[in-house]
Amino acid sequence: MPTRLFEENIRDIAGRPGEMRERSRELAVPERLGEGLARVPAGETLALDVRLESVHEGILVSAEARTTVHAECGRCLKDFTTPFQVEFQELFAYTPTEADEYGVHGDHVDLEPPLRDAVVLALPFQPVCRPDCPGLDPESGELREAEAAAVPEAEIDPRWAALAGYQTGTAEAADEPGSGDDPESASK
Ligand SMILES: [Zn+2]
Repeated sequence: MPTRLFEENIRDIAGRPGEMRERSRELAVPERLGEGLARVPAGETLALDVRLESVHEGILVSAEARTTVHAECGRCLKDFTTPFQVEFQELFAYTPTEADEYGVHGDHVDLEPPLRDAVVLALPFQPVCRPDCPGLDPESGELREAEAAAVPEAEIDPRWAALAGYQTGTAEAADEPGSGDDPESASK
């Protein structure tokens, strides 16, 4: 069911270029934003500052959203949360001329699609709980000491060096040409 949480009423400024409204509010995110290791879960509080400017072509929306990102550290796999802020500006046209242009619908504009795009684009693709997170020891699976993580790359375990020379046999694609109707017609 489409949400109306992100709709802004523009009735009192539509068709009146130069008019402007500023609104702020908080809402609970109705549906998770983001599909990766970092996301804004449903129910998280989102603060929204919106400026609506009536221009000749439509309504120019400038918005800033502040919320909390929940993420899993890409190095140590620990869950953590971090403050998150994103801004966007979009023109909602009275008569959209391109497929990707947002439009005014009746007496409102729906900020949900551009907000979702802005949040998803800004979410970290590979979140880390802290910039110097040492990550997990590849052998023990335990969180590494910071010093251990600082081992220079030249000091590679000789066992890994041996593995580097190991190549899996070239998998020759077993092509079965002309597997026709009769599987037994393998004669020349
Ligand atoms: Zn971490």
